[in-house]
Amino acid sequence: MILRVAGAIPPRDIAFPAPWGYGPPFFSDMGPTAPEEVPVSRRRQIYEGKAKILYEGPEPGTLIQYFKDDATAFNAQKKGTINGKGVINNRISEYVFTRLSHIGIPTHFIRRLNMREQLVRQVEIIPIEVVVRNVAAGSISKRLGIPEGEPLPHTLIEYYYKDDALGDPMIAEEHIACFGWASNEEMQDISSMAIRVNDFMVGMFAAINIRLVDFKLEFGRIWDGDYSRVILADEISPDGCRLWDMITGEKLDKDRFRRDLGGEEEAYQEVARRLGLLENDGGPSEVFDLSKHRKLRGK
Ligand code: C5P
Repeated sequence: MILRVAGAIPPRDIAFPAPWGYGPPFFSDMGPTAPEEVPVSRRRQIYEGKAKILYEGPEPGTLIQYFKDDATAFNAQKKGTINGKGVINNRISEYVFTRLSHIGIPTHFIRRLNMREQLVRQVEIIPIEVVVRNVAAGSISKRLGIPEGEPLPHTLIEYYYKDDALGDPMIAEEHIACFGWASNEEMQDISSMAIRVNDFMVGMFAAINIRLVDFKLEFGRIWDGDYSRVILADEISPDGCRLWDMITGEKLDKDRFRRDLGGEEEAYQEVARRLGLLENDGGPSEVFDLSKHRKLRGK
């Protein structure tokens, strides 16, 4: 199968949306300093995370988000590489953020620059991981003894404090207010956006026979004078979502890596392919069968 990311080189003259996803174009002309032409060696690195690097962007208030192939799990106790993951996640995240902006969710995404990079709005990151769950899996199953795969009576939102040294502990809204990590108004915006993102993504994935079990979101603050607003930041990809094939139950996400199931490259590609983001010679999608896939590849 030939797999290529569709539309890898975007046309130079496209107008892209305002940083929060709607309104007039933010840049009318990138000119000779278009970010894709800034040599990587001349860029100032702002931050390196487990799966991404942030570089200074071409304009104040912008950053370049670079997607790595590195994969980590269990608070970086397990490390590895998923070949091509960065390319796929860049494309999937572009697609999801663009669709979310179409339903009015403000996001940091401006536009994809190339195979591994996207231009994003610089935000003051809110140190909270927002996890949305539709079906029991992972830590909630472990913590509360709810069997994996059991649908939850209603969608749950959980908050975790972003701190690697502490292992990202689960927190209540009370902690967020008490320690001033986000205001009550910001938390209202965050929880209502999380529910809207979930409603949209459940439908988007169901349309391609994928069950959205759970996912993690991150939000950031942008300032306009004395006023700030909260926008969706980071990425949305199989790294931070649990995605199960609706028919076979196959896991199409980072649990393949976390649980040593194998086939993680194929799983990520399958999600991109079903979303229509990969050029391939396979025609319409069949039900994905990872074991058949691995046998074909002699693994
Ligand atoms: O491990 P847990 O069940 O709490 O994860 C819930 C969801 O949040 C999963 O989809 C997982 O991929 C995502 N997550 C994440 N980054 C974390 C913790 C969880 O993307 N640090």
